[in-house]
Amino acid sequence: MDFALTETQMMFQQAAADFARQEVDPVAIKLENAKEFPWELTQKMAALGFMGLVIPEQYGGAGADYLSYLLVEGEMAKTSISLSMTLGAQNSLVALPIMGFASEEQKQKYLPIIASGEKLGCFALTEPNAGSDPAGMATTAVKKGDKWVINGTKIYITNGSVAKIAVVWARTGTRSDGKPLISAFIVDRDVSPFKTGTVEDKMGVHASPTTELIFEDCAVPAENMLGKEGDGFKVALLTLNTGRLSVATQSIGLATAAYDRAKKFARERKQFGKPLTEFQGISFKLADMITDLNAARMLTYRAVWLKEMKGLSDPEFISVAAQAKLFASEMASRVTSDAVQIHGGYGYMKDYRVEEFFRAARLMEIVEGTSEIQRLTISTWELKQ
Ligand SMILES: Cc1cc2nc3c(=O)[nH]c(=O)nc-3n(C[C@H](O)[C@H](O)[C@H](O)COP(=O)(O)OP(=O)(O)OC[C@H]3O[C@@H](n4cnc5c(N)ncnc54)[C@H](O)[C@@H]3O)c2cc1C
Repeated sequence: MDFALTETQMMFQQAAADFARQEVDPVAIKLENAKEFPWELTQKMAALGFMGLVIPEQYGGAGADYLSYLLVEGEMAKTSISLSMTLGAQNSLVALPIMGFASEEQKQKYLPIIASGEKLGCFALTEPNAGSDPAGMATTAVKKGDKWVINGTKIYITNGSVAKIAVVWARTGTRSDGKPLISAFIVDRDVSPFKTGTVEDKMGVHASPTTELIFEDCAVPAENMLGKEGDGFKVALLTLNTGRLSVATQSIGLATAAYDRAKKFARERKQFGKPLTEFQGISFKLADMITDLNAARMLTYRAVWLKEMKGLSDPEFISVAAQAKLFASEMASRVTSDAVQIHGGYGYMKDYRVEEFFRAARLMEIVEGTSEIQRLTISTWELKQ
């Protein structure tokens, strides 16, 4: 058993840590308060090759292995969960489905512009009446000549207002068993315009815009279907099964940042004439936090290992990836909550940032499948054994 990272993996992690420390950390609080998309930092991440980490070099990407991508994602989440959301959308939610299902022609057309960050991407699945159950989606795509015409509304789309390439799901018909036939499309906003609707005012993660997207007679060239007609669920599920590891890593990153801050604060803050670390009530809390963190990290690494060994469609990988996302996101809520507690009143103030991590952790339990949906996935697999 070898838990050591390769030199290349350490190099990617270090590059992200350096960038986060030098460029992001000094402006991180300002970014969140401004509630604006950080274009300049996004371009800098692109220049470092972070937008196409998972994309092979032949399509202009960095050709990193999946763990290297996760390590970068985790480092970014320690400093700005918003920037890590952009990284996740570009790599995990847009590049991966295109790599997995696109034709060679589509890969050559879209992967280089995603890898260079020339166009940002978004993943448009959720609708007002279709969240955990995407089969309930109302968006339709109707074939008219050499185009698919999309009509419908998507909600809660990360980077919806800034993205130019959207992977969009729509009903293209009905199966013989009466269930909807769902297909996925690559929609280039410059060619097939769609509108941004409501920009959500959220609990946290403010420098990552979450928006409604409105498709009104949006005509998409027929060759932009991703996979075959009816492959939509397969595209979504394979993307989300891997994407869960990205959320697990973001959870570990932000919880690590909260833990580090809590430990530093507990060492420096004195009450009753002693540093807080000398009270067992606090030092045991820190012990539980780091144990929780390492357990989440190990589960996530095991899921990555299963992905490499058995592939994306393997049921054990799917279950363990769901376990990693479930455990890491709930761990992040526990650890960030304890970090606020250790800071006392200071923890409730924005300057110390632990309250920001606490709010961000809550999101991790919801995106890319809620904790309940992860439990559904895990129990379905377990009960088949
Ligand atoms: C900030 C943010 C960013 C997001 N980004 C994206 C994005 O980029 N692209 C995208 O497509 N979507 C995105 N989403 C949507 C997100 O994936 C959904 O919110 C999530 O999947 C849950 O769907 P829902 O909100 O409709 O909740 P619902 O599905 O209505 O669930 C409500 C509650 O019921 C529970 N529940 C539902 N079904 C079951 C069941 N079978 N058993 C037990 N409990 C159940 C849920 O766990 C939850 O607790 C984002 C959401 C947020 C908040």
